[in-house]
This record gives sequence, C-alpha cells and structure tokens, in this order.
Amino acid sequence: MNSVSQEVVLDSQPINFQPLKERGQREVFCGLTGIIWLHRKIQDAFFLVVGSRTCAHLIQSAAGVMIFAEPRFATAIIDDRDLAGLADANDELDKVVKQLLDRRPDIKLLFLVGSCPSEVIKLDLSRAAQRLGKTFAPKVRILNYSGSGIETTFTQGEDACLAALVQDLPKSTESNQADELDLLVVGCLADVVEDQFSRIFKDLGLKSFAFFPPRESTQKIVVGPKTKYLLAQPFLTDTARFLENLGAQRIAAPFPLGVEGTEKWFLAAAKELGVSADTFEKVIAPQRERAKKSLEPHREILKGKSIFFFPDSQLEIPLARYLNRELGMNLMEVGVPYLHRQHMAEELAMLDPKTQLAEGQNVENQLDRCREQQPDMVVCGLGLANPLEAEGFTTKWSIELVFTPIQGFNQAADLAELFARPLTRKNKLMMVEA
Ligand code: SF4
Repeated sequence: MNSVSQEVVLDSQPINFQPLKERGQREVFCGLTGIIWLHRKIQDAFFLVVGSRTCAHLIQSAAGVMIFAEPRFATAIIDDRDLAGLADANDELDKVVKQLLDRRPDIKLLFLVGSCPSEVIKLDLSRAAQRLGKTFAPKVRILNYSGSGIETTFTQGEDACLAALVQDLPKSTESNQADELDLLVVGCLADVVEDQFSRIFKDLGLKSFAFFPPRESTQKIVVGPKTKYLLAQPFLTDTARFLENLGAQRIAAPFPLGVEGTEKWFLAAAKELGVSADTFEKVIAPQRERAKKSLEPHREILKGKSIFFFPDSQLEIPLARYLNRELGMNLMEVGVPYLHRQHMAEELAMLDPKTQLAEGQNVENQLDRCREQQPDMVVCGLGLANPLEAEGFTTKWSIELVFTPIQGFNQAADLAELFARPLTRKNKLMMVEA
C-alpha cells in the first residue's frame, strides 16, 4: 500500500501571532457545564457534583430538568454544617454515594466533581474517590475531577474529566500489547458525528481505532507507544499530556470544522497510518464535493460580513479560520481563553495574518474594542449576548457551538447556518421596520 503522498497543505507558513494578553474580569461559565454533554456521551456514568446550591442551579437550568429519564447528574450540597467541620463533609459524602449506588445499579462509573465550594473547604475528593472506589469495586469505578470556576473556562471541565479517565486506563504491558490501539480520537463528539467519522475511518481501511470518551465506560481501551491520538476538540491540554505519559503520540492536525478542516484532519491521520493516496481520494472526494456545494447559499449571506469573538469555548480559532476561508467573513478580534501554540499550530498557519488575537479576558476593555469596531456579528457567552443585542449587535452564543453537532463534512453547512440565521433574521426585522 502506498502511503498518502499529499502533504497537509498549508497555504502559508505558521505566523508568529502576537496575541493581546489580557487579565481582568471574565464572563464565562465554569467547568461544571461540561457535565451537560458528558453525561449524554458516557451512557453508564453518573456525575455527582460536590458543591453548593448555586452549582446545583447551574447544571439543572443549563441541562434542563429531565422528566422522563433517570437523571445522570446530581449535586451533593455542601451546607453550613459541612463548612463547620470537614469530617462531617466526608461522612455525608460517603452516605450520599452509598444511597445513590444502592438505588442505581446501572451506574458503572461515578465521577465526584469538585466545585468552588469543595475547593474552598479543601475537601479532598481524590482521597474520597480512592476510599469509595475500594468499597464499591469492582462493580463501580469512582473517579474525581474539578469543575471549579476558579481560573478555568467551561470546556476545561471536559478536559479535566477526560484527563481523569486517561489516568485510569490500563497500562500497555506484554499481556495486553496486542490490544493496543493504532488510533484514538479524543474529545466528545455527538453520536451522529462519531458514527460518520467511524464509517470514514473504516472506509479508509483502519481497523484498530476508538473514540474517547467511549459511550460505555467498560469499553476496553489500551493506549501505548504504538498509539497515535487525534484531537477532535481544541481544549484538551491535560488529557493530551496524560496520553503522552502512556506513550501515545499526537497527530498534528487542524480541527475537523468546515470542509477544509475536516479533510485536513482526516488526511493527517491517513498519512500517519499508511493509507494510500488513491484510497484517501476515493473515500473523501465525494464527501468533500457534496459539503462544498452545501455551503454555497450560506456563503452568499456571510461573505464580506465582519465577526468579533469574545474568549469563551476555545473553539474560536478553528471557527474563525473556517468562517474566513470557506465563507468569506472578515475577522476582527478573535479572543481565546488561552492559546496552546502547539495544538493550534496548524490552525494558526491558516488564519488570516491580519487577525487580532487576544488571550485571556478583560471584559470591559474588550467590550470597548467591540463597540469601536462595530462588527456585523459577535460570538460571546450568554452573559454578554443580551446586553450586546440590546445595543443593536447581532450575537451568537458560543456555548451553542459546543452542544450542537458541528464537526465533519455533513455538518459543515449546519455550522454555516448557525451563523447565517441571526443575520437573515436581522435583515427580515429591518425590512419589516422599514
Ligand atoms: Fe459557581 Fe463555582 Fe459552583 Fe461553578 S463551581 S456554579 S462557578 S460556585
């Protein structure tokens, strides 16, 4: 088999972007928010937040109340009594976990999720997870991670959760070496996207691959020096580090957003895993052509419009690259919570060099710049969207882009529509008012 001869073609050399570094008041959700999509993904897991009533309200209102299904997340409330004495908090937690696992035999993996209050009272959830893990093994695995909002952004909750899962993976040894995966695709993807990607990998001839996190926590995943991993999400810094501790190597690639990003993402994997150029073209070309065509009506609406990103999800750079290169939007400021130059290298190489990057947040300064530049569209968190709409800006909630299936060829047009829709609505309203 010939290996793919095409290079991951980058139109320009990596540019040494100098982001504007900001620190100050931030307007972002905390890492608990990740539970909303993580609990849907890992179907036999339960997320027990150890936090306050505020934490309970956040996940309850963000996720909606599940009336017909047994919920797979809850909050063990830290109250005044717990704040007064740590021993009580540990005893209470053990009691709550026992009650939960007695009542819910379907739970195979329990995450104890730390919060600002549990960190403030220094409740050691890793010791609690070890203690409880011994009690409930082998029926239930118990892990912990922090979703606290102190100095983190909301997608880092997924990173912390996946990092905890990686640390619990079995090590590759002589006895299980045969099970070591060739490819691990890392980052939560909607099931529909995962199924499409799985079909493409199979059509490319790959046999030994898996998605992480798995849908069933009991799925056997062995990672070792033979394993290459491919990030499907741009916010998995710690997860990547722990995978590398197991010997896995990252495939450098842009992220699978838009037609171009998706093709280059698959191409990078195909090159690493020895897929022939002919096979790659045969599998990818029909998908690419169909997806490109599906973008045309949206390009009509978005071409020439300007866009400004507030830092929120970490998806900002790949989205900006896609909106600029495939839909003709003009990039103003692109804010990111933090810039991981290594994971973003392929994206930065494709980003319009005129783009102003900003890392971190000082919300007042950024609002001033946004007002001055008057973009046609602003991508921001929920807290900023309403005030900006009231000032006449058209906004897009960045959190919606994390909940919605947007990766891959088949979703490229849906992603474009998410940006085109608010502009179309605004035009219609203006016509009515005129
Ligand atoms: Fe608020 Fe912190 Fe709880 Fe998040 S973890 S809801 S930021 S108190």
